[in-house]
Amino acid sequence: MTILEEPIKEVSTLRNYVGGEWTESEGKLVDVVNPATCKAIARVPISTKDEIDSAVEAAKEVFPEWRRTPPLARARCLFRLKELMEENFEELSRIQTMEHGKTIDESRGETRRGIENVEVAAGMPSLMMGYNLEDIAVGIDEYVIRQPVGVFGIIGPFNFPFMVPLWFAPYAVATGNCIIVKPSSEDPISQVKIAELADEAGFPPGVWNVVNGGRTVVSGMLDHPDIQGICFVGSTPVGRDVIYKRCGETNKRVIAQAGAKNFVLVMPDANLDRTIASCMTSFYGNTGQRCLSGANLLVVGEGLDAQKYKAFYEKVTNAFVDATQKIRVGYGLDESVQMGPLRDESKKLRVLRYIEKGIEEGAKLRLDGRKAEVIGDWPHTCFLNPSAFENVTPDMTIGKEEIFGPVASIIRARSLDEAIEMIHSNPFGNAASIFTSNGKWAREFQYRVECGNIGVNIGIAAPMAFFPFSGMKDSFFGTLHGQGREAVRFFTESKVVIQRWF
Ligand code: NAD
Repeated sequence: MTILEEPIKEVSTLRNYVGGEWTESEGKLVDVVNPATCKAIARVPISTKDEIDSAVEAAKEVFPEWRRTPPLARARCLFRLKELMEENFEELSRIQTMEHGKTIDESRGETRRGIENVEVAAGMPSLMMGYNLEDIAVGIDEYVIRQPVGVFGIIGPFNFPFMVPLWFAPYAVATGNCIIVKPSSEDPISQVKIAELADEAGFPPGVWNVVNGGRTVVSGMLDHPDIQGICFVGSTPVGRDVIYKRCGETNKRVIAQAGAKNFVLVMPDANLDRTIASCMTSFYGNTGQRCLSGANLLVVGEGLDAQKYKAFYEKVTNAFVDATQKIRVGYGLDESVQMGPLRDESKKLRVLRYIEKGIEEGAKLRLDGRKAEVIGDWPHTCFLNPSAFENVTPDMTIGKEEIFGPVASIIRARSLDEAIEMIHSNPFGNAASIFTSNGKWAREFQYRVECGNIGVNIGIAAPMAFFPFSGMKDSFFGTLHGQGREAVRFFTESKVVIQRWF
């Protein structure tokens, strides 16, 4: 076992980045703890209402100058930011592993995905163009211009501390807006690091701000008349009942991407080896703490008689469980590790409660990951091994609710129709995948399923930066999505000009 060098050597107090200055918060301090070692790695302030107000003031002040800055000059700041992120790639990735617990490969993937959003947003001079038509009447032309809107608040979840705010931030600033990022207080270090790089990249003071904290900062954003829009990613109750609701009351633009319960279908003609390999990252990658994680594995018996279906179900289940048993659990800075700890002990206890509920409601715990076997001598406080349930039905608690941990529920579905009905009976609509080599089934699936992100022979249907990160039903509240062209629309207002040439 070799542990990569930890980039964080001492426990420092994180500061806010407001108006180009690093400021100490007056709010109370909370430890940020590495979930693998259980050691504190930073102290994060829970900033006050005055502090979020100051950030809005700074952003508002620089907005007129920033919106007048030519789009190519704005994009140059992003090019520099991208270069700096590349130079610091490994450090940024290791920070994520320390603050969140994910494996170093998962962190490197997250860093790459974050940078890709910076790269796409750097193409803003083309992406932001309007359109025109001459002679809409004799001697009259009409055209649409896209203008930035003002100040935006970006509120991040704990599970992708580096990448998720970058679904929005680069697009917001490239279109000429100013931003205030509030990272999850559970793992805010990589966002503070990004602000250091943004500072070095030469954004004018006040364009890119970071205010650490919790509900007070979020409420401060939601209630502030000078914030024009909010981008939120997090759980459904907060996204729907706090963010979306309040943005409606205060007339703000909103993207609220929320929770998930994702179904993965295995059809009888699927390539089983590839399907199982893909399922391992889908169900257990990021320790199951992904909004795109597979949660319910549906073994679908379309076209099979009862006897053949029984054999197929057993084959899939055995292969899934065998592969799951081989997953190596430990500290993510050990490159041989395939699954890290849960983010903190309360999240682990929540997963344990779901496992107990599953047993209580009659599902069969085929693989019990409750007693963690961990590579290395780390405290077991936040670790679990992967678990898998059989004989789950979609109306059981574990088949219905978002567990957000390394627990798979294997469910029988006799036909594709029945499987799609099961997906539709669930309130979430974030992602669903099908494994098959039958084009008709694949098309039927992508056509009918009410989920925002569809995988065909892909276990994690994560959209690239130039496509929207979608979502439906209880997984998404708003109209436009983060990333790519939809983000450009979200961060700009269309203005129509009609011009008569005298
Ligand atoms: P969370 O809702 O607890 O927190 C998200 C953010 O909101 C944090 O910054 C937090 O400080 C803040 N917050 C929490 N409670 C609040 C309240 N009552 N009032 C105001 N602000 C509050 O979510 P989380 O646990 O950090 O993230 C996990 C959730 O995010 C999961 O449900 C997951 O599915 C979801 N998620 C969704 C997507 C997506 O694209 N749909 C992507 C990643 C994560």
